[in-house]
Amino acid sequence: MLIFESIVSLQQYLKKKRENTSKIGFVPTMGALHEGHLALLKQAKQENDLVVCSIYVNPTQFDNQEDLTHYPRTLAADTEKLKYIQCDVLFAPTNIEMYPTPSLVAFSFGHLDKVMEGQYRAGHFSGMATVVAKFFNIVQPDTAYFGQKDLQQYLIVDQLIKSLSFPIQLVRHPIVREADGLAMSSRNRRLSPAQRAKAPKLYEALQLAADWLPKAAIVEVKRRTQEFLLQAEGPKVEYFEIAHGHTLEALTTYQPNTPTALCIAAFLGDVRLIDNLLLH
Ligand code: AMP
Repeated sequence: MLIFESIVSLQQYLKKKRENTSKIGFVPTMGALHEGHLALLKQAKQENDLVVCSIYVNPTQFDNQEDLTHYPRTLAADTEKLKYIQCDVLFAPTNIEMYPTPSLVAFSFGHLDKVMEGQYRAGHFSGMATVVAKFFNIVQPDTAYFGQKDLQQYLIVDQLIKSLSFPIQLVRHPIVREADGLAMSSRNRRLSPAQRAKAPKLYEALQLAADWLPKAAIVEVKRRTQEFLLQAEGPKVEYFEIAHGHTLEALTTYQPNTPTALCIAAFLGDVRLIDNLLLH
């Protein structure tokens, strides 16, 4: 595996490679790699001739300095995992490489970036879209892989690709979970053993909500879900929304044929977890 820190040297390498490579796949990450990330990379390996993974903890998408400081950074271990699955290229730039001058651009995605994560993490999606657009320009992949774990992010990247006419095929990978249902996340390693034991309640709550949906009004489903987590002394809910799976507009009634997203964010101590279920 080749490792690049510099944009220019990565671009020179990819330019040469493109002469005899038909398809480049790209998987952007913030590192602290787990089986969820690796599943995206393995799919990319199967569907492309060359796979580029980026590891970059993007400061412009963090609204919370603490979260940025505590974000796990495990580049040496990540590099070993990437070599093991035969990733072709790792791009791990520094902040000065990515932002030689402070970023002044801002993105807006209408309703999509105002709700849920957008409501609670000011500027998060603008920062995320900025770095993803930069990566798309740098790597110029044919396909890009994003996880359903960050459903709102996936929908916004889809919009970004359409709005800026990036010639990139976007692939959504399903959520990879631990055996007990907890969605894999780099933040899980910050959970204490007691918090880790409670974390799967989040997925349990989503499954219960999905069971209740056809039989109860949406307000009632939301109330019962919150009550379940409270009673179970599970993660403390920041939001729980039941929304259209493409537009994220809040749904007032459940219809089995409408793509429906159940999205939740909750805290265990100061660790913030998100999860979702998509019903079609
Ligand atoms: P991150 O490093 O958290 O920014 O994640 C990088 C990519 O991996 C994003 O597209 C995430 O949605 C995806 N991802 C992270 N965790 C999971 C998971 N448990 N299952 C599927 N995709 C994931």
